[in-house]
Amino acid sequence: MFDVATIRRDFPILQRRINGKPLIWLDSAATAQKPRAVIERLVRYYEQENSNIHRGTHTLAEVACDAYDDARDSVAAFLNAASQDEIVFVRGTTEGINLLAAIFSESLLRPGDEIVLTEAEHHANIVPWQFAAKKSGAVIRVAPVDDNGDLILDAYQRLLGPRTRVVSITHISNALGTVMPIQEMTRMAKQVGATVVIDGAQGAPHRRVDVQAIGCDFYVFSGHKLFGPCGIGAVYGRHELWQQMPPWQGGGSMVQQVTFEGSTFAIPPKRFEAGTPAVASAAGLGAAIDYLNSIGFEAIERYETDLLAYALEEIRKVNRLRIIGMPRERGGVISFVLDGIPDMQVAKLLDAQGIAVRAGTHCAQPILARFGLQSSVRPSFAFYNTREEVDVLVEMLRRISAQR
Ligand code: PLP
Repeated sequence: MFDVATIRRDFPILQRRINGKPLIWLDSAATAQKPRAVIERLVRYYEQENSNIHRGTHTLAEVACDAYDDARDSVAAFLNAASQDEIVFVRGTTEGINLLAAIFSESLLRPGDEIVLTEAEHHANIVPWQFAAKKSGAVIRVAPVDDNGDLILDAYQRLLGPRTRVVSITHISNALGTVMPIQEMTRMAKQVGATVVIDGAQGAPHRRVDVQAIGCDFYVFSGHKLFGPCGIGAVYGRHELWQQMPPWQGGGSMVQQVTFEGSTFAIPPKRFEAGTPAVASAAGLGAAIDYLNSIGFEAIERYETDLLAYALEEIRKVNRLRIIGMPRERGGVISFVLDGIPDMQVAKLLDAQGIAVRAGTHCAQPILARFGLQSSVRPSFAFYNTREEVDVLVEMLRRISAQR
């Protein structure tokens, strides 16, 4: 049974007060709070296991190495990857997409090739491709969304063709909450032979991900949005693709043989992990995944779907409030503007009551511009939020709206 009161006790920060009020954390899309299991895993690592990995022959080097390997196993199982060798650890989604874009700009993209994105992308899934396009001579094409924030599938289909080399799409939009039909989009992209990258920064925390069922080539996510530590994330990639790819950063651990004349490189995933990795953070991410598994992802999805429907229903009743995007399927976030009240001011007034929401561009300027906006207010939800918290938010929004 999913018991939110019990779950909340697992998150120490949720017990604290902000400006004299109980904290209401509605900013999980920016970063999620951490359960005690994750915090304790970090402490245990540094108190009992800390060592560099791969390089030592002593006991702690082995212990740390096991911790890192176990984390890779956990991520592989979490995504239903075929093997742990398909998981490359990175700092987060931003670094993961930069890794792919940098490698593709040298090894895959040629002048005139096309990179297809959607209008709803985070800057992390736009700017690296702009770098890649500039370097390779490829061009970026953008699939539009409709007034609800849903992808226009026909328009996307029309963009796909023999020149499409890469399709890189968000699983869930961080600004609108749209859940993209990634399985269908991947199937369509595969028909033209494109390499498919999914930005799972918002997807992995809210939907059960099965990379084999999706059929994508790469899936990228951030640990800190998945209730794990900052500084760790992962790129899933199909094994045969990683094997063909050249390295992107050079240094220790990613090589086989080094001379001053040249170097040969390790097999994946090590080939893509130069230098000392974030071992403690990886172990913490493994603990976050264990924690999610102990609750059950299906139970989490069910609870969140109900909570989000309730929040949407209540928030839209507030006078002079305009919801941005009404997608068919929504995950995690609700974006809105209050007529005549700057978004930052709304967020500050909420903060005074202990309610943390994001206001601004959400690093997704193009999709806000699509709706004629430069910013919005964005409460975002996780399975530790409650209907009572939604009620407090809505009551405050009513007051702010009435004060105008
Ligand atoms: N993609 C999406 C959809 C996001 O929401 C975010 C962060 O908000 C990112 C990418 C970048 O993630 P990170 O900052 O963890 O690298």
